[in-house]
Amino acid sequence: MLHTHCPNCGGNQIEGFFEIKNAPIFSLVTVKSKEEALNVPRKDIELGFCNTCGFIFNRLFDTSIDYFTLGYEDQQGFSATFMNYLRKISENLIQKYDLKGKTLMEIGCGKGDFINLLTELSAGKGIGIDPAYQDGRQTNPNLTFYKEFYKLDHGKLPADFICCRHTLEHIHGTKAFLQLIRDSLGNDTNKVIFFEIPQITRILEVQAFWDIYYEHCSYFSAGSLARLFRSTGYEIQDLHLDYNDQYLLIEAMPVNTLSSKAFSIEEGIGEQKKRVDNFRVKIREQLDDWRMKLSALKTKGQKTVVWGGGSKSVGFLTNFADLELIEYVVDINPHMENNFIPGIGKKYVQPKFLKDYKPEAVIIMNGIYKDEITKTLHEMDVFPEIYAL
Ligand SMILES: [Zn+2]
Repeated sequence: MLHTHCPNCGGNQIEGFFEIKNAPIFSLVTVKSKEEALNVPRKDIELGFCNTCGFIFNRLFDTSIDYFTLGYEDQQGFSATFMNYLRKISENLIQKYDLKGKTLMEIGCGKGDFINLLTELSAGKGIGIDPAYQDGRQTNPNLTFYKEFYKLDHGKLPADFICCRHTLEHIHGTKAFLQLIRDSLGNDTNKVIFFEIPQITRILEVQAFWDIYYEHCSYFSAGSLARLFRSTGYEIQDLHLDYNDQYLLIEAMPVNTLSSKAFSIEEGIGEQKKRVDNFRVKIREQLDDWRMKLSALKTKGQKTVVWGGGSKSVGFLTNFADLELIEYVVDINPHMENNFIPGIGKKYVQPKFLKDYKPEAVIIMNGIYKDEITKTLHEMDVFPEIYAL
């Protein structure tokens, strides 16, 4: 199935520029056996660049896969670095938009950790919407959950603020989704909308191939995201990067008439096209470079582990599974222990496992955690060579 039109703007000037063959279609599901992990279906990815709006998407994405009602184990709230980040953005939003005591809504709330944090910090009420929410996961009486997809009626709920974190990159029909939210609000233009998603520009610039995996079908830059928001009737209040420039944050309000305000980080389409062309060349070098490093570790017989489960490890290991170098992936999320990595078949272990395993090399999937992880390793008397993405 090849998508010939851009889901953001409807344009048909799409050029493919990067392929990954046989990517496992699930990265975040919990898999209890090696066999089950190796049986996860695989499909090809081909990133396409839209020459009309600058959007990047997997133009081979299979829209018939039902990702949203599966039991994801996507809680990142076990890392101090990540918790500090969430707290910081929450406090910033509460102060900036005067959200104390208000009702806040999260679309795609998952297990409800973020809406819970936000509601606690704002001392207000929270509404979480997600078909995959698990009853009983949150016990805060100020929270209400709707185990369903966002629909027009939800616009009538008394929310002063709507947020949606790390969901849009999983949605193929990006414009339709933004339009649905806008339509649900009608003339109620007094709400603040906040979205947070990974940004593609950094991925292109550092050839972060580990951030490209099947579950992410939509890859936004500041420019393409801003263009999408405006085209669906939102005035952008703020647009910026955070989390070591890995995340793109947008704050907007529904309007009936747009102003001409623009933000300096909105890149033009020609500028992004140059990055895409550069990526096409550099990604080969980057993949070859990692292959050499990993092959050298294998030749020297050095025990190597990956630290950081979830999609990045799947994105990374998919490219080097044939080397058979890595047996274990460390993750601090206790719910992932003894599960297997979808498509790769390697086992998740807790950090304490490394005390006896004593790896000689650790590859950290997210450089932002390097200090935190290095400290944990040293405290266990483990001093491996550290590589960080
Ligand atoms: Zn487009």
